[in-house]
Amino acid sequence: MTKIKRLPPHIANQIAAGEVVERPASVVKELVENALDADATSIEISLSKGGKALIEVKDNGSGMSREDLELCIEPHATSKVDSEEDLMAITTLGFRGEALASIGAVSRLSLSSRQRECEEAWRLQVNFGKVEGIRPEACPPGTIVRVQDLFLKTPARAKFLKSSQTEYARCLKVVHLFCAAFPEVDFRLKREGKHVLYLKGNAPLKERVEPLLGRQIIPHLKEMEHVSGPMSLRGYVADPSKVRLSSRHLYFFLNRRPVSSAVLWRAVKDAMAGFLVKGNHPAGVLFLEIPPETVDVNVHPTKLEVRFENPSHIYRLVFHGVRKALEKAEADVLHGSLKQDRVLAEQGAKAESLAGDSQVGSSDSLPFDFTQTRRQIEPPLLVREFQEEGAYGASNQIEEDESKEWNIIGQFTKSYIIFERDRRLFILDQHAAHEALLFQEFISEIKDSGGLSKQNLLIPEVFDCNAEWMENLTEVCKLLEKIGIEAERFGETQLVLRAIPTYLFKSSEKSKAIQEIVELVMQNPASDTGELLRSCLSRLSCALAIKAGQGLTLSEMETLVDKCMRQGITNCPHGRPVLVEIGPDELQKRFFRK
Ligand code: ADP
Ligand code: MG
Repeated sequence: MTKIKRLPPHIANQIAAGEVVERPASVVKELVENALDADATSIEISLSKGGKALIEVKDNGSGMSREDLELCIEPHATSKVDSEEDLMAITTLGFRGEALASIGAVSRLSLSSRQRECEEAWRLQVNFGKVEGIRPEACPPGTIVRVQDLFLKTPARAKFLKSSQTEYARCLKVVHLFCAAFPEVDFRLKREGKHVLYLKGNAPLKERVEPLLGRQIIPHLKEMEHVSGPMSLRGYVADPSKVRLSSRHLYFFLNRRPVSSAVLWRAVKDAMAGFLVKGNHPAGVLFLEIPPETVDVNVHPTKLEVRFENPSHIYRLVFHGVRKALEKAEADVLHGSLKQDRVLAEQGAKAESLAGDSQVGSSDSLPFDFTQTRRQIEPPLLVREFQEEGAYGASNQIEEDESKEWNIIGQFTKSYIIFERDRRLFILDQHAAHEALLFQEFISEIKDSGGLSKQNLLIPEVFDCNAEWMENLTEVCKLLEKIGIEAERFGETQLVLRAIPTYLFKSSEKSKAIQEIVELVMQNPASDTGELLRSCLSRLSCALAIKAGQGLTLSEMETLVDKCMRQGITNCPHGRPVLVEIGPDELQKRFFRK
């Protein structure tokens, strides 16, 4: 007798529902997306008990015919994808045709709809996967979707819902994201029958991002605009010299969809390096537009994670966009102070000597002071290797001889190592290269021994976190353990850290790196753990790698070059190249000898 049975459709749909419908906020997201895909210009959302009792989304979009209404709740019924080619270049927010079927499987769902050009309207009722029927209805053009008693008959899912207040907060966040991404649309939100939000369409973008970022940040936003071929970046970034934040308030939209991606986070962080002081966090809203066929949004059903065809292009777009905005902000400030200096000079004040003083102190005037930079270098990998080399003796001798095939020419701007081999010239980015080496070392250590080695803190550190993040603490702690961070719950909104990675113990960036890694994990518990682990290790490598601007001795340079060339390191963990190679042909061409 066969053991395998085909699941009846209503059970299959309930299982599928878990993918799309996790909580009221995911229902709100799906329904608002549908309204926007139907070209609505006005959307009203009503919630009761944080969406657990009722979620209603009313739009003035295209509406549905009786036939469409009957079809729309079937699994994989969509009007948005016809062919495989469509799937390659999705321009609508939805495309899987699963949302309504999934929602209908786990709630009491009613859809009332009237097409714009039609007199007649229809109402379809589905209760926990069972179609109850369709009947004529009186309603204005557009669609009203009502979702009641979500998960009432699936207690296993209901169990994961939080208090009405928490679920409401999550729905509100979803609405805020849509308000920012679709500034041309009117949004209204009602809670327990009372209006709580009304944002009129076509208001300035700054007003539309206010609910997301908070009122205090708005006056300090710097506008961004950067175009590179078919890709563009618009949005705002908060001036880090004016805004102090204890956690990130950074939102990314890709072709108007809120997304999360390590490449994007990294690009902003890197662009802010030098502008952002220790303990402060970036804030902003970034809208990217890129050709839809160059991004895969199909990675995850809730479509938050994306995969770029060419991450390095995206990195550069965001990096330069943010950098430009910050540099302009800084230039404006300088310009302002210069003007002030001029006024002072006219008044006979000592403006001139002040300006002179500030130049004498610049690092350019002390190009050969190695003592200063030497003290700052604590490259753990390099230091460890020198010790090992001394200890291993004979076997290392062979490696040393082999390493002679690289001839180090020197260090350029204390950031790049220039060397030659086989009549070819190489330029190695010392920070990126060391980062990539450390990254690989960490990955293999985790593979070999299950996690990075850790060291107990003498005095455990308490770490503040958002109540929402605490929900997935078990998974979070498991992942942190792999990185060598031992953390556990400490009350409702705090974590206590008992051990940290041994590698970090002596690093001056210890606290900052730990804080960032813990936040990264807590903020993205649902994302692919492999990817998340890589992001954390990449952060750790970045903290530990020698920096650009650090002077290196010849033997340090040799060790780094040797390791990189042996291990075939070509790209850093973020995908940027670490090595540039120039052959004699290219040089001859540049000198017009060819
Ligand atoms: P998808 O959005 O992935 O196509 P859904 O299950 O969300 O799948 O919706 C199925 C179909 O129902 C949509 O393709 C669309 O044709 C129709 N539909 C859903 N909501 C609306 C709406 N608010 N207005 C007009 N049509 C809608
Ligand atoms: Mg949809």
